[in-house]
Amino acid sequence: MKKREVPKRMCLGCTESKEKKALLRIVSHEGKIFIDAEGKMDGRGAYLCKDSLECLEKAFKKRSFERTFGVTLDKDEKERICLEVRKLGNK
Ligand SMILES: [Zn+2]
Repeated sequence: MKKREVPKRMCLGCTESKEKKALLRIVSHEGKIFIDAEGKMDGRGAYLCKDSLECLEKAFKKRSFERTFGVTLDKDEKERICLEVRKLGNK
């Protein structure tokens, strides 16, 4: 029997490939970063491990968002993203 391949996406932080359901989708819109909790937002998407502020920190350090989306994140923006990730992780 052939095993069905689960599509995998790479986390911006740890760069591990995981199933989509283990990841948060991040999209950028007009220079801002949003967490796409429902997976329905338009735009360019990237992924980050769910419940992992560590991966988020890594992504910040590596400037992954800047490189992936061509945005500039200031401190406030990073804090906002941090809060959103935390909020979703606590669901
Ligand atoms: Zn990760």
